[in-house]
Amino acid sequence: MPCALLALFASCESDKTPEPALDHLALGNPSGATTDVNQPTNYLLSKSQYVLSYHRDRGIPNWVSWHLSTEWLGTAARQDDFRADAALPATWYQAQSSSYTGSGFDRGHNCPSADRTKTVADNSATFLMTNIIPQAPNNNQNTWGDLEEYCRTLTKAGNELYIIMGQYGTGGVGSNGAKSTLDNGRITVPSRIWKVVVVLPAGTDDASRVTATTRIIAVDTPNNNSLNSNWASYRTTVDAIEAATGYDLLSAVSVAAQRTLEARVDTGPTQ
Ligand code: MN
Ligand code: MN
Repeated sequence: MPCALLALFASCESDKTPEPALDHLALGNPSGATTDVNQPTNYLLSKSQYVLSYHRDRGIPNWVSWHLSTEWLGTAARQDDFRADAALPATWYQAQSSSYTGSGFDRGHNCPSADRTKTVADNSATFLMTNIIPQAPNNNQNTWGDLEEYCRTLTKAGNELYIIMGQYGTGGVGSNGAKSTLDNGRITVPSRIWKVVVVLPAGTDDASRVTATTRIIAVDTPNNNSLNSNWASYRTTVDAIEAATGYDLLSAVSVAAQRTLEARVDTGPTQ
């Protein structure tokens, strides 16, 4: 039934802005992930707090995508309840809270705990191990932590963000030296960790508002504990990340805008 008719009965919802929980992939699904269990290296897991592509054989997400607006920010405390994700297909190995113990790698969040503080349930969801990768401590706590903080600063300044974080390659250097896998080979240590941040003034119809002048911050960092703590030194193009991963990022944005945006290295403020 057309919306105008439904509106007569005061029950029409279609003109409203989508719930923030539902639009994490508004700018596209980078790897065309689906819920087909026969594609275990590119398996789509959707949660209200974020959406990801999971790689069964690496035991980590390929990428995690989430929308960040002030609607997601509140006063819920950090839950720290790292745990296995029972949403994975039943026969697949589930990374455990203890899988990284003693490895020299942090349980690094993709969607950060501090981006999901509206409710206890939202914060707790970020501690599911499907949102976690082995991340060198100095990468996680310094380089990455500062970029995450800057994203929240942009949000509080009147913007809404679409953030995609992912990894590729094999082999990192943590606080106990180089490793390729953890947990008896069930979890791969990635060699590179990247992030793409799309910055829009808070508004509606987001994909259509991304134009050739929209600010995009793309970074690609080594998963090595001796990296530079200045995230801005790792700025790169979306095109370079697409070439390294084989993904099509921002595929819901017009091709003309992608062509310009994805070739540009951000030079904007960093704090
Ligand atoms: Mn972190
Ligand atoms: Mn693209």
